[in-house]
Amino acid sequence: MNFDNLFYQSPQPMLIFDIDTLQILEVNTAAILHYGYSRQEFLSLSTRDLRVSEERGSFDKLKGLFKGSENVFAEGQHLLRSGSVINVQIVSYIVEYKQKKCRLAHINDVTSVVRQARNFEILVSIGQSISQELELQSIIQKVTDASLQLSGADFGILFYYPAQSPSQVEFTFALSTISIDVQRQLGDIKQFQSLITNEVVRVASASELEIGSLKLSERVGIRKEENPWTFQSFMSVPITSKSGETIGSLMLGHRHKNVFTEEAEKMVLGVVSQATVALDNAMLFQKLVSANDEKERLLEKATEQNFKKDEFLSVASHELKTPVTSMKGYLQILEKQLAKEGNQLYLDLLQKANKQVNKIIHLVGDLLNLSKLEAGRLEYNFSNFKISEVLADCITNIKNAERKHNIRVFGDQSSVICADRNRIEQVIINLIDNAIKYSPEATEVLIGLSEERGYFKLEVRDFGPGIPEEKLRLIFERYYRGEENSYKTSGLGLGLYISNEIIKRHQGRMGVESEQGKGSTFSFIIPTEQDLEGSPK
Ligand code: ADP
Repeated sequence: MNFDNLFYQSPQPMLIFDIDTLQILEVNTAAILHYGYSRQEFLSLSTRDLRVSEERGSFDKLKGLFKGSENVFAEGQHLLRSGSVINVQIVSYIVEYKQKKCRLAHINDVTSVVRQARNFEILVSIGQSISQELELQSIIQKVTDASLQLSGADFGILFYYPAQSPSQVEFTFALSTISIDVQRQLGDIKQFQSLITNEVVRVASASELEIGSLKLSERVGIRKEENPWTFQSFMSVPITSKSGETIGSLMLGHRHKNVFTEEAEKMVLGVVSQATVALDNAMLFQKLVSANDEKERLLEKATEQNFKKDEFLSVASHELKTPVTSMKGYLQILEKQLAKEGNQLYLDLLQKANKQVNKIIHLVGDLLNLSKLEAGRLEYNFSNFKISEVLADCITNIKNAERKHNIRVFGDQSSVICADRNRIEQVIINLIDNAIKYSPEATEVLIGLSEERGYFKLEVRDFGPGIPEEKLRLIFERYYRGEENSYKTSGLGLGLYISNEIIKRHQGRMGVESEQGKGSTFSFIIPTEQDLEGSPK
């Protein structure tokens, strides 16, 4: 068996080198073909010279191993005669060559494996980075950069037409080039728009390319005589929306022929399909952001309008208060005079007028309170007082207004509380007033007083029609009025809202229980002891 043939005719590059000097002593044909050096040139080189310059230092460390008898496995980068770099895996073992101990090296070119692994890494990392990205420009730039890297192109241009834009006039684009020079030579980016295709196009040499009836160079507007720089390799990949329409295009080019391989095309397609999802998300996000902006604008407008309305109510109630109060004064004088004269007919009429004026005073009072409350101008003066005294005042007030209801008080009348006396009186009057107003068929209102664990509680119970359960949670809201009452009774739907705010300011709580057909019980609790600023002790 002739072992020489195994060496010289093997399709795998092999060489024999001196273990002391590293000088190359013999090469096979496969090595000559693969590296581009002639046999003569090889024999003037050492295995160290084959390495790229930055690896030569570390290569010297292998020298000791080469002198041993073990097989040596090494990895690195070799330079070809053309200046290209290849990735190699080398295994070498001791042989005797021309009566001397040498090493025979088997060289494995793993460039394409390494490139594939690197490309795969790029593909995975671009997928991760764009899936977290919501900014459109940043996504298309990343996609263009990654495609340039994966395909080995000189330049890449990505045009993106958002789905809602009806024409291709408005677009976003990203450009990626290997150098400023290439960028300069590309000229106006817009001219590439005419190269957008609906299907993948990959050409090895620009002269071969026809899109429609036009040659690529004509479509791009680069004529050789005007611009000596042109590209030969070209690839165009459409970007398609979920619904199947072309919403953009990625174009890649290179000055040389035959640059884009099928593998590069697959890689670029991989990036583009990931980009489609990310772009869809970015568009959705943009829509969401603009919808939110619109919502905020409307909210601002509504707040402004609300402010104007509050301002109007505040001015109107102020303006109404003085004339209505003096009107009431004149009516009282007139009432006394008519009583003296014994004119019963006019007296009756006057009392009716008085009732109406009282209603107006009540409504204006509610409005004034509301505007003060909203502006944070409702003042509180805390003091200690006996609650039964305040309650008695309230009942007298209400009785004077000629109510037919009998108001009965139960429970512990000894409680002393620290609160704003006028405001608490206002709350109690509101509750008793409502109990009477909303139980016109009944004749009784019960008031319960109690004290438990530092809290004072007041309950007002009526025997009216009650409140439907679904309405109970609305009852303390501003302007809420039960529709069944709104046409029968006067009111603005503010009394309970204001009362609730007052009780909250006293660190307390209001409550309501109601059974339809049987009546309602409104209550409030407040701490009995507070400091004079209204904070619980
Ligand atoms: P107003 O009495 O001015 O309408 P309130 O805030 O005092 O405003 O009351 C709000 C609504 O709650 C009333 O319109 C009424 O529908 C309901 N309501 C209040 N108190 C009672 C009650 N005791 N019985 C039945 N419904 C009541």
